[in-house]
Amino acid sequence: MEQEYEVVVIGGGPGGYVAAIRCAQLGLKTACIDAWRNAQGRPALGGTCLNVGCIPSKALLHSSELYHQASTAFSAHGIQTGGLGIDLAVMQARKDKVVEQLTGGIEGLFKANGVTWLPGHGRLLEGTRVEFTPHEGEPRTLTPDHVILASGSRPLEIGLAPLDGGRIVDSTGALGFREVPRRLGIIGAGIIGLELGSVWNRLGSQVVLLEAQEQFLPMVDGEVGRQALKILGQQGLDIRLGARVLGSELADGEVRVSYQQEGEERSLAVDRLVVAVGRRANTEGLVAEEAGLVLDERGGVVVDDCCATNIPQVYAVGDLVRGPMLAHKASEEGMAVAECIATGKPHGVRLDTVPSVIYTEPEIAWVGATEQQLKSLGTPYRAGSFPLAANGRALAMQVKHGLAKVLAHAETDEILGVHVLGPGASEIIAEAVLAMEFAASSEDLARTIHAHPTLAEALHEAALAVDGRAIHRVNRR
Ligand code: FAD
Ligand code: AMP
Repeated sequence: MEQEYEVVVIGGGPGGYVAAIRCAQLGLKTACIDAWRNAQGRPALGGTCLNVGCIPSKALLHSSELYHQASTAFSAHGIQTGGLGIDLAVMQARKDKVVEQLTGGIEGLFKANGVTWLPGHGRLLEGTRVEFTPHEGEPRTLTPDHVILASGSRPLEIGLAPLDGGRIVDSTGALGFREVPRRLGIIGAGIIGLELGSVWNRLGSQVVLLEAQEQFLPMVDGEVGRQALKILGQQGLDIRLGARVLGSELADGEVRVSYQQEGEERSLAVDRLVVAVGRRANTEGLVAEEAGLVLDERGGVVVDDCCATNIPQVYAVGDLVRGPMLAHKASEEGMAVAECIATGKPHGVRLDTVPSVIYTEPEIAWVGATEQQLKSLGTPYRAGSFPLAANGRALAMQVKHGLAKVLAHAETDEILGVHVLGPGASEIIAEAVLAMEFAASSEDLARTIHAHPTLAEALHEAALAVDGRAIHRVNRR
């Protein structure tokens, strides 16, 4: 049988499509199998991220923030608005257009780079053989030299609140509401729950988040988490911590949720309920038993530092494997694997410098260690922080809260973690990531010239504060 492709990628999300493009750039004959079909039933590239994840959520976060600003902040700037209202159909159509433009863009990039798009289902057979079943058509077997598994993840479902396609939905359902729910419940105050809660809260829903853990955002620096909890609460998000959901029922057109908090059984009635309790790797139907692929206890694919699985020439990237479930992490792994296949020189992706962002307002962004992690590891460190309220640009923008914080090793001064709470935190954190990639010290950051007036100056001042020499605030020693 003539070999059609040297590399077959299963999954066309940010892990898979980036891997496919990079393989093609490096001269490998590449195909990408992807099973996604959009709401119109048409195949679409881009996976979760472009279709029902990063992009549509950010589109709605932006629209809802504009509305929120117009209704609450404009008057302080002397801008008068009258008869403000929401046309949700237009807002949703704009979001859908952004998604369509981006997913269509990947299709264009595939054509331009010579990647073959195979819409349908992919399954790993023995070795590197892959069964491809087109959406309409018979299965056929492909025999590439290398396979990259990039089938991503899907929302975790819980028996306590089974999805009913209308009132009880997952994140995808919550991105598609056609009317603003009067009362919205969300199970899980993690990244996705907080972003979706922010969207609908800004548009007028009463939002209650039920979070089983006692601590708010345990992965976030404690100081940042405490401030964020206060600010989001002031915005109207009712975040109930230590609230473990026990069950739910649909009755009289509403959803009744029972939960346990402070040793008591409590209940909540809402019009819509979003289940946002996490995601799990998409391995169902991905691999034939005879392939012998090793999975971990959570159902993800076990890989080494370079994303190689236990099967020679078979790699796995993105949400399917260990590490944070983030699009940029998936893409970086996709590129690393493509380069490993083309050059034979494996290189891994550093997971300790993957930035994380929560796109609430203010945004929460971080890279590296939190202060509580350093304490528990016994790592000697120095911390410097700077409040945005003391930053000129922030004041000009009417920003009253937030901070930048730098954690550096007490002896070597190497930056160990950076945390930013404020508007634009998602952009500011890029500088910190670069600094950490270059093993910079807080002194390096402190001696780097930052444009004035910018929000990034808060990061500069936080680096100066590590050494007790911030200029625009009184230093505590
Ligand atoms: P996916 O994007 O899940 O893509 C996998 C693709 O493989 C899908 O198209 C799927 O249909 C296909 N597939 C699965 N099995 C098969 C098969 N057997 N055959 C063929 N095709 C198959 N991350 C961020 O970094 N920033 C954010 O702001 C952000 N926001 C998010 C908001 C929401 C609401 C959600 C749900 C997620 C968000 N994420 C965000 C996470 C991000 O979407 C994922 O980390 C990212 O999409 C993972 O990429 P991936 O390529 O591993 O998998
Ligand atoms: P993330 O992992 O960031 O998507 O966040 C999911 C959140 O859902 C976590 O903070 C979990 O603690 C929370 N969670 C999971 N199960 C439940 C439950 N039954 N009741 C309330 N919260 C839950």
